[in-house]
Amino acid sequence: MKTSIIGYPRIGSLRELKFASEKYFRQEISADALQETAKTLRQENWSVQKASGLDLIPSNDFSFYDGMLDTAVLLNAVPERYRALDLSALDMYFAMARGYQGDHGDVKALAMKKWFHTNYHYMVPEIEDTTQLKLDDTKPFDLFNEAKVAGVETKPVIIGAYTFLKLARFLGKKTAVDFVDDAMRAYGEILARLSACGAQWVQLDEPCLVKDMTDADQALFQALYQKILSDKHGVKVLLQTYFGDVRDCYTILCAMDFDGIGLDFIEGKQSLALVQENGFPADKLLFAGVVNGRNIWRNHYAATLELVETLKQSAAQIVLSTSCSLLHVPYTLRNEEKMVQEYRRHFAYAEEKLSELSELKAILEADAPEETAAYQNNAALFASPRSGADPAVQARVAALSEKDFVRLPEFAAREAIQHERFGLPLLPTTTIGSFPQTKEVRAARAAFRKGESTQEQYDAFLKEQITACIRLQEQIGLDVLVHGEFERNDMVEYFGESLDGYLFTEKAWVQSYGTRCVKPPVIWGDISRAKPMTVKWSTFAQSLTDLPVKGMLTGPVTILNWSFPREDISLKESAYQIALAIRDEVLDLEANGIRIIQVDEAALREKLPLRQSDWKSYYLDWAIPAFRLVHSGVKPETQIHTHMCYSEFADIIREIDDMDADVITFEASRSDLTILDVLKESNFRTEVGPGVYDIHSPRVPSQEEIQVALQKMLDKIPARKLWVNPDCGLKTRGNAETVPSLEHLVQAAKEVRKTLA
Ligand code: GLN
Ligand code: ZN
Repeated sequence: MKTSIIGYPRIGSLRELKFASEKYFRQEISADALQETAKTLRQENWSVQKASGLDLIPSNDFSFYDGMLDTAVLLNAVPERYRALDLSALDMYFAMARGYQGDHGDVKALAMKKWFHTNYHYMVPEIEDTTQLKLDDTKPFDLFNEAKVAGVETKPVIIGAYTFLKLARFLGKKTAVDFVDDAMRAYGEILARLSACGAQWVQLDEPCLVKDMTDADQALFQALYQKILSDKHGVKVLLQTYFGDVRDCYTILCAMDFDGIGLDFIEGKQSLALVQENGFPADKLLFAGVVNGRNIWRNHYAATLELVETLKQSAAQIVLSTSCSLLHVPYTLRNEEKMVQEYRRHFAYAEEKLSELSELKAILEADAPEETAAYQNNAALFASPRSGADPAVQARVAALSEKDFVRLPEFAAREAIQHERFGLPLLPTTTIGSFPQTKEVRAARAAFRKGESTQEQYDAFLKEQITACIRLQEQIGLDVLVHGEFERNDMVEYFGESLDGYLFTEKAWVQSYGTRCVKPPVIWGDISRAKPMTVKWSTFAQSLTDLPVKGMLTGPVTILNWSFPREDISLKESAYQIALAIRDEVLDLEANGIRIIQVDEAALREKLPLRQSDWKSYYLDWAIPAFRLVHSGVKPETQIHTHMCYSEFADIIREIDDMDADVITFEASRSDLTILDVLKESNFRTEVGPGVYDIHSPRVPSQEEIQVALQKMLDKIPARKLWVNPDCGLKTRGNAETVPSLEHLVQAAKEVRKTLA
């Protein structure tokens, strides 16, 4: 039995590539120095992998920015505007990734999108009618050779033609089918070149196969691969899938001339059933993704052993693998210097997952697997009770019943009560929560964290900021105020720190896009509210004014989606626990005189299953109730707002309305406002504040353009349901543009109100 991984993180265990790249961007180091850092990091990865005993070591999983971008360059899908800059290859690559402004011209970056349901983002290739897909780069060959020189035999990894074409944007009249011939020729040439370099295996990543496939998709896939596989130039081709199961094309894959097929048995709900029911071709290797590539918990060997034994009944040759690239987990526990053993022994980052693969291999090859030390240690770990269990929390979740998810009275009655209570004008104006996090704010927080200022000093500073923010909003003339969120820089960590059951890491960085990394906290145990989280600042802000100040919380689904979740209980169970903790905070805010409470669900859409047919039963059926649980206990006159950072919710519009918030604000300024039609058609009940200007840009919108936007909205949304607000929090903006923008917003609302009276 052999072992394989799909890919490895590349940003560096201490984010060396990030820092080197950013230095290069600032022109503090040369291109050669950056290349040198990259090379060192690749060599480190290979040597760690080799030392672990990994059989199939990946190459070309390295990227300076993103693998899709690398593939676009490899296939010559480079838009003319970047070529025209006439830069070095490396600088043109970075121009595509980040945009370019300088002596050579001024161009925007390619669009960036979420990579499936992960928090990683890829650059979206652009394909024009004139684009000539052809092999135009040597990176896969260079890196294969680099490893070979270092004495490491590797398996080059390349994003496959189907996924590349499915994720690309076609700007002209042509579509994916028009590029089949060119693409297959290019991939054929890649196989030939890799074969000439001495590669045995080539891995083609096709994660798009785990999404719903139409007949046309299946035909596209077959057209591409029949041609690619008709001449493999002597290399073995591994068709690698991940992030789900391939229920729409399993039999097609089995019938084609692949040498190996990689399936995900962690997230692929039907992967096992597919293999059992259809069998697996005896002439192929099954690369079985049994070690979770997306979470950081130790693998449970007993369960994995059982799975592999079951697979063996259908598949003659099995390679042990990860469920997806290890890109989505941090590097190594070695850097977690402060983490105590009690926690540490439960975790496996990328490097520890390599050890798991080699241990699993040894166990499976042993005469008496259950008697091996590795197996027994692992069994003991899973048998011993873990700290973090809280019977009270568990009992509270177990005791939930239907009525806990229902807020009374129903929406229309509340709406009337609230309109009466608040007496707000038509088209009430508000903001999403945060105000500019100036240098001063960040410096004060950093100083406090480092112990350079006292709690009293920091609190005094925050009070000053909040006071100024309230006065500013009053001056501008906003109707519903916020405290400004100066005490937090993050939507999850801030809450996690006041929740029991959360664990924070030191170095568990995961690449989010390009040089940006995130460090998600870990849900370690049962979650409960250790102490009030926002009451102090919200009540302070409210004490300064008679206008309503919104309490500001992050919702349970977003907190869960931006953390490493538990594997010993369901996501639903965790979501309900977090919901109950946030519910306690909501009720506390209400009891302390906060009349409007906003519960942000910025990431609600993020973890929607990849197949639409799974949305309801695997996600929405608990995600929406979790939100309802948060607010079902408030009085009718307390107004609940929510906010989402996107407007693509046409396909889940019923569920969004079913969250039963009183008001929802969302991003609309960059979308074409088609969402307004959807709101109208669905008879959307919740009051809405579609963002009237884009806060992602420093541009100041004019009063007139906001008026025009409002008029458009009024065509579709009844005036008594329409709110006026920017499209997201203002924390990334400066005061210079924020103040005039909000002034224009308020003036626009006032002007439009006149036409409604
Ligand atoms: N209330 C948060 C803020 O204004 C919302 C942030 C977000 O939606 N990403 O910053
Ligand atoms: Zn937002």
